[in-house]
Amino acid sequence: MTNELVKKLDYEATFDCVQCGYCLPACPTYIAFEKEKHSPRGRINLVKMAAEGKITIGDMQEGIDLCLGCRACETVCPTNVRYGDILMSAVEVLKENKKQSVIEKTNRTLAFKIALKNKNVLRLINKGLYMYQISGVKRLTKNYNLLKSVQKFNELNKAMPDVILSRRINRNINPFRRNNVSVGFFQGCIMDSFFARINDLAIKIMQKNYVQVTNIPNQTCCGALQHHAGESKDTIELAKKNIEAFEKYDFDYIVNTIGGCGATLKEYHKLFKSGTDWHNRALAFTNKVRDISQILSFLNLEFINPINKNAVYQPSCHLENVQKVFNEPDKLIEKIPGLTYLPMPQRSLCCGSAGIYNIVHYNESMKILDMKMKNVRATEPNLIITSNPGCHIQMQLGVEREGLSDVLEVKHLVEVIAESCGVEV
Ligand code: SF4
Ligand code: SF4
Repeated sequence: MTNELVKKLDYEATFDCVQCGYCLPACPTYIAFEKEKHSPRGRINLVKMAAEGKITIGDMQEGIDLCLGCRACETVCPTNVRYGDILMSAVEVLKENKKQSVIEKTNRTLAFKIALKNKNVLRLINKGLYMYQISGVKRLTKNYNLLKSVQKFNELNKAMPDVILSRRINRNINPFRRNNVSVGFFQGCIMDSFFARINDLAIKIMQKNYVQVTNIPNQTCCGALQHHAGESKDTIELAKKNIEAFEKYDFDYIVNTIGGCGATLKEYHKLFKSGTDWHNRALAFTNKVRDISQILSFLNLEFINPINKNAVYQPSCHLENVQKVFNEPDKLIEKIPGLTYLPMPQRSLCCGSAGIYNIVHYNESMKILDMKMKNVRATEPNLIITSNPGCHIQMQLGVEREGLSDVLEVKHLVEVIAESCGVEV
């Protein structure tokens, strides 16, 4: 069994690492925890040694568990090591190797097989959050620290955005195609439950600029959280559903507002064996995936309202390191009238959100967030611009922890552009 399992490790890819260490200053966990096993180079060595039988599979656990999966190491690596592939192979092997407790199994089933896979369950969560908010219970729990016995939930509760009710998907064809661009809109599940307003604003900005936007039925969760938890069967099932849903239409692009989910969509082809029908269909899909900033960059947006703020941008790691979208958000931010764009030191370092890392590794995540907030404080902005819901909540959490919520706002790039362009939900 163990022998069969180690064969699943991406051993070949580990030989591309020449141990140069260029990735160390880019790795948030190496900076925070100062140990080789928490560096990209150390983790690659762990996988190599496990594949060679020099250490047990379990010996990889701590090093791999505490990796954020931000993939900043890939961006700086001179030999193009496929760190993401090495990491995902280790995550899957560790998951299969570990005996899960009944509680762990139940939690995984509830999260990955029931909640995230089912839009109706997510809509129920969205309705529950909405009721929690409008009933005044959220305000009470925030103001009186009612969740303080569980510190992480108390802090996350404070950082949670106010939600609007997510709408059922209607096939929504804008008859105007003056830009000759047609877009299939990918909603995401966390985005749809917590930040439906941002999706609505993104659609409205595109429609105002004559992009034909279609919000199609039968789309589902991208599978990012399942993938990062080593649940490959569920990830493949979700990928197939999304590919089938979108390939029925002849879109120029498949657009989303979520750096992390966009990265998973962009790598769907890696889930299937090269040369198979599903691999080809996945490639056709991934070639069309674009972040909202890439679409807004080529539109002739009319900015009518000045935003008189001093802003920093906290990019989504996966938007940069996987989707390779580095410049478009900057160019858009620079166009916003009245806004002063401040350069933040180490801005590309992960904020510590990383999917559910800030829940399962709370203390480590807060250490990384504190490093980020030190850089925010040094820059003295009154607005943090984000490009992913996880980073958004994490940065809001940082603002709350620093006691800055009266003077420092957190907004998604789409919200800032909508405000400046006079677009409202
Ligand atoms: S992963 Fe790349 S940058 Fe890091 S040590 Fe290996 S070769 Fe060097
Ligand atoms: S993915 Fe991020 S946290 Fe993990 S080794 Fe690479 S840089 Fe470090």
